[in-house]
Amino acid sequence: MGLRGRLVCPDCGKVMTVVKNGVVVRMGGYSGYFKADLFQCPKCGKQILAGFGSEFFEYSGKVDYNFKEGRKMRGLNEVMVFMTFRKIGGRCPFCGKQLMKGQNGFYCSCAKWNSVQEEAYREGLID
Ligand SMILES: [Zn+2]
Ligand SMILES: [Zn+2]
Repeated sequence: MGLRGRLVCPDCGKVMTVVKNGVVVRMGGYSGYFKADLFQCPKCGKQILAGFGSEFFEYSGKVDYNFKEGRKMRGLNEVMVFMTFRKIGGRCPFCGKQLMKGQNGFYCSCAKWNSVQEEAYREGLID
């Protein structure tokens, strides 16, 4: 059998085999769903998703792989929200309390605000 169109494990050089066809995947940056095939290396067990089909939107079943809510991405979005409210004030986007005015902009005393603030600090957006 030829290798054309096959997937080969980069660690072992073994042809990967299909574990499951038609797994449902959600990806960051896309509002719909994708069907793909799950392959696995018979030697080391490394799995990959390949053979993606077109995006589709009507679906209410189980999602096998959800990369839409990636931790990094969600964190960044929250940091963006934090940066905006820190500037404009108003109600805390995380707990709903009125933001207070401080030396470096508006702030909230809730735990969520503080954790996102720490993240913004780590990202180098505030000092
Ligand atoms: Zn392998
Ligand atoms: Zn708050």
